[in-house]
Parts: sequence; structure tokens; C-alpha cells
Amino acid sequence: MSHSAVSQAAAVSVSIGNERSLTRSVFKQNNSISFNTKPWSSSLALTQKTSTIRDAKRYSNTTICMSVQQASSSKVNVSPIELEDPTDPPLNLYKPKDSYTAKIVSVERVVGPKAPGETCHIVIDHDGNLPYWEGQSYGVIPPGENPKKPGAPHNVRLYSIASTRYGDFFDGKTASLCVRRAVYYDPETGKEDPSKNGVCSNFLCDSKPGDKIQITGPSGKVMLLPENDPNATHIMIATGTGVAPYRGYLRRLFMENVPNYKFGGLAWLFLGVANTDSLLYDDEFSKYLKDHPDNFRFDKALSREEKNKKGGKMYVQDKIEEYSDEIFKLLDNGAHIYFCGLKGMMPGIQDTLKRVAEERGESWDAKLSQLRKNKQWHVEVY
Ligand code: FAD
Repeated sequence: MSHSAVSQAAAVSVSIGNERSLTRSVFKQNNSISFNTKPWSSSLALTQKTSTIRDAKRYSNTTICMSVQQASSSKVNVSPIELEDPTDPPLNLYKPKDSYTAKIVSVERVVGPKAPGETCHIVIDHDGNLPYWEGQSYGVIPPGENPKKPGAPHNVRLYSIASTRYGDFFDGKTASLCVRRAVYYDPETGKEDPSKNGVCSNFLCDSKPGDKIQITGPSGKVMLLPENDPNATHIMIATGTGVAPYRGYLRRLFMENVPNYKFGGLAWLFLGVANTDSLLYDDEFSKYLKDHPDNFRFDKALSREEKNKKGGKMYVQDKIEEYSDEIFKLLDNGAHIYFCGLKGMMPGIQDTLKRVAEERGESWDAKLSQLRKNKQWHVEVY
């Protein structure tokens, strides 16, 4: 995202008149939205906030009062703080046969012109009705008929949620997805065949503000951020859109003023993409590096621009190898390690970790089973 810092922050209060009460949700709905952004929130975010206010006005009986003020704290206030109350994450509030109709707030291409393929950041308005925790996924049912089951809807596609539970507007009413358009190239001609392009990712990337979208979920527990120890170490490994859950974590750790959770540990992100233009959310992550140098580390592997020490392409496992001593020590001291992205990332990473373990005279199999047993090992690949 092209984020430029703005020096002022908006404080917005929106009272929604016709919110329906939720029987399914374990979360109490708050009848007002408010947020204070901080000086470094992006101009884009400000534009989005403005459009959300417009959307709120369009979608409901709304009274809006908005003022622009100097931010008072270095972190963004979030609401409704009742979203912190439940002890268990929300799960499957909406199912495929009874999905929730949400609305698209914005769709933004977030990669540069030299990135292979297209990735979009998509903000979805759920009006507070589809609460989730960081690291969970939403299901999306694309419109149209399932070609394999005539008359039936398409199967659900899962997408990791890329925002915190408060959403990109800090009001608990939106969720964001980071979606790569699945495009099909004929292996013989090398030409794109649009008839075989991915149904749901193209629907999402082509959608427009106000469009309706059928959502299920939220689902998933494996990538939840353990918060029992605010001084824990979290090592996050991603390829491409696998960065989505980590964007949520990092906003929670460094951007939001979350009641009763003040992070003082270490978050270390390894992100593998093709080239500089393919980097996702780089401005946000660079900002954390600048503001929280003792609590955040960020290593990138750009496979088409950098070489590993053997002269081959630089993949995320090459970066892991570079820091393997530190990583192993952190794991021995209880660090959590997360993997998210394409399935194909895991064999290379596992081979590297196994080799490093053997070089250290350790058995990788024993270490892995210990990490799993201790719930330090979190994998979500697709
Ligand atoms: P589909 O229509 O399902 O097609 C799948 C693939 O087959 C496409 O590449 C398509 O081009 C190809 N294809 C279609 N027809 C043919 C044909 N006739 N011959 C050969 N090939 C064909 N994705 C993200 O982008 N971001 C995320 O954050 C994300 N999170 C996920 C989290 C989880 C837990 C899981 C399980 C998956 C996640 N995914 C994510 C992947 C996502 O669910 C979809 O699988 C992906 O978007 C492709 O779905 P689609 O409907 O666009 O493609």
C-alpha cells in the first residue's frame, strides 16, 4: 500500500440507528463507533475512513459527527472493547447454507507494476456481525453456479483475515483480506485463458465498493496469536498472501491501543515474495521497524532480485538458514513459530530446518514433535 504519513488524525463518532441485534454472536454490539488515529496513519486510510463514513450513512440510519484533532497517543484507540471480553474465539457463526451478506468497502491493488500477478487488499463491511480474532479466516462463496454441481452454489473459498478484530477503521465493523488473483496460463502457449481463471479470487479482486459478498466463518484456531505472555517471541514466516494473518498480529502488537495487552516481546517477520514490487504492507512493517526496533525484526527474501549464498534464488528458507542459530535458540526458549502461504513453501523450509538441526547435533523429528506438543508450531498453508 502506498502509505504516506499524515500529520493529523481524524476522530470520528458514528451512531448507527438501525443495527440489528445479533443472536448468534457472542459479542455484544456497541451502538457507536469511535477511533482516534495517530499521526502516521496513511492518507489512504484517511480516505477509506471517509468512505466508510459515507458507507455507514448509505447503509443505515446514521448520525455522523466528525472532528479532526491532533492524535493524543502513539497508538490507535480501538472500539468496541467488548471484543476483548470473550475467552474463546468466535467460530463458524455463519455456515455455507446460511451465510452472512456483507458489503465491499474497498478493493485496492497493493503490488507495484513489476510484480508478477495481482494482489488486492479488500476491506469488507460486516457491520459488527461477523466478529473474528487475528489469525482466523473467512469463507467466501462467490456468486454463480458450481460447475460440478449444477444448480448448487460454488464451494466456499477460505481467506486469512488481514486485519485485527477491530478492522482497518478500528471500529470492529470491517475485516480485510489480502487476495491474489488466480490466473490460468496455458502451459503450451503461455497465454492466459480467462475461462480457467480462479472464480473467487477474480470475483473479489474485480468487486466494487457496495457490492454484496456472501461470507461464512470465522474459522480456524491454529493461527491464533497466543496472548498469555505479552513478552513472548513470535517468529512469522510467510510467502506472498501468507502475510495476511501477520498484518493482523502486527497491527494488534504495534498499532492498536489494546486494553490489557501491552506487547513487550519480539515479533520477527520473514516475508518471501518475487521482487520489491511484490512486497505487501511494506510501509506498515517499515514503520514498526522504525518505532519498535527492540520488538520487531523484518527480513525479506526477494527470489527474483536476490541471490542466496549458493548463487541461487533467495527464498524464505535461505533467510531462515541465515538466522538459524538465533531461531533455534528462540525456539528452545519457547518462541512461537508460524508458517502461512502456499503449500509449496513447507518442504524447502522443513529441509532447511532439518539440515540445521542435524548440523547442531539435534534430531529435527524430536524437536518438531516437542514444538508441536508445546503448541509453539503453527502452520496454515494452502
Ligand atoms: P478456483 O476457481 O478454485 O481455481 C483454482 C485454480 O485452478 C486457479 O489457479 C485456476 O486458475 C485453476 N483452474 C481453474 N480451471 C482450471 C482448469 N480447467 N484447468 C486447470 N486449472 C484450472 N488465497 C489468497 O489469495 N489469500 C489468502 O489470504 C488466502 N488464505 C487462505 C487460507 C486458507 C486456510 C486456505 C485453505 C486457502 C487460502 N487461500 C488464500 C486460497 C483461496 O482459498 C483460494 O483457493 C484461491 O483464491 C483460489 O480460489 P479461486 O476460486 O480464485 O480459484
